[in-house]
Amino acid sequence: MKGPTDEEIRNVIMPLMLSGAKMLDRHCPVCGSPLFEKDGRVFCPVCEYRAKKKREFTAGENADVEAALRAKLAELSSTLPSEIDALEKHLSVMEKIIELILKYRTLEGGE
Ligand SMILES: [Zn+2]
Repeated sequence: MKGPTDEEIRNVIMPLMLSGAKMLDRHCPVCGSPLFEKDGRVFCPVCEYRAKKKREFTAGENADVEAALRAKLAELSSTLPSEIDALEKHLSVMEKIIELILKYRTLEGGE
């Protein structure tokens, strides 16, 4: 069984410890990572991360997400408010959507 990689320690375990989750002195039988407890739930962050990553790489799923994001973006850009505060909010949402689309692109092409 493969234990957590450096990447997983950096991206999963470290942020979890900083977020206030409790590291238990038990280990995951599957991957050997320390188990964590948060909000009364005991879980293996590494297995959850791996499962999530696997789902994200499932063919077609990224395209669906991207299509949904693009549709939202088109909708937003066709309904720009004229009032400046509202416009600013509107634009920051659009910016986030664009960021997400770019992120999905990276996921799809990477590794
Ligand atoms: Zn595990």
